[in-house]
Amino acid sequence: MKYLQHYPTHLQEQIKKLIETDKLDKYIKSKYPKSHNIKSDKALYSYVMDLKNQYFKKHQLSKIQFDGKINVINNALGMHTYISRVQGNKLKAKNEIRVATIFKNVPEKFLEMIVVHELAHLKEKEHDKAFYDLCTYMMDDYHQTEFDMRVYLLYMDRFGKLY
Ligand SMILES: [Zn+2]
Repeated sequence: MKYLQHYPTHLQEQIKKLIETDKLDKYIKSKYPKSHNIKSDKALYSYVMDLKNQYFKKHQLSKIQFDGKINVINNALGMHTYISRVQGNKLKAKNEIRVATIFKNVPEKFLEMIVVHELAHLKEKEHDKAFYDLCTYMMDDYHQTEFDMRVYLLYMDRFGKLY
């Protein structure tokens, strides 16, 4: 249950039961029948920029890409890199969004959730209330989707890909 440790016990128990009765695949697939079609860095770039421009017009992103080196076990979410560089006597900040390659083959909702999470970090660095308020503002079912995405990671660890 490693991806679900922060959730209430009854929710963890519910998922455990689905695993034991071999129904976890059905739970996931009935809610999320198919994978999205965003397979290239170029497609990801447009997807992220569209969403970014709806909410964070003024923020710049220097790089957006799928990254096979992100260790999903340690970091289920994408990776938001905030690089500060001193240029001359100015401190220049660069924002990059990297999404773990496994999110190439997931339902669109899961990708959207990851991107929303990373975009929210443009404004809020910590995982605090302001951060999650921003996430749910961009995606009203953010919390349910994050839960389901974590359930899918759990599924993949045990049984492999569903999509
Ligand atoms: Zn985060």
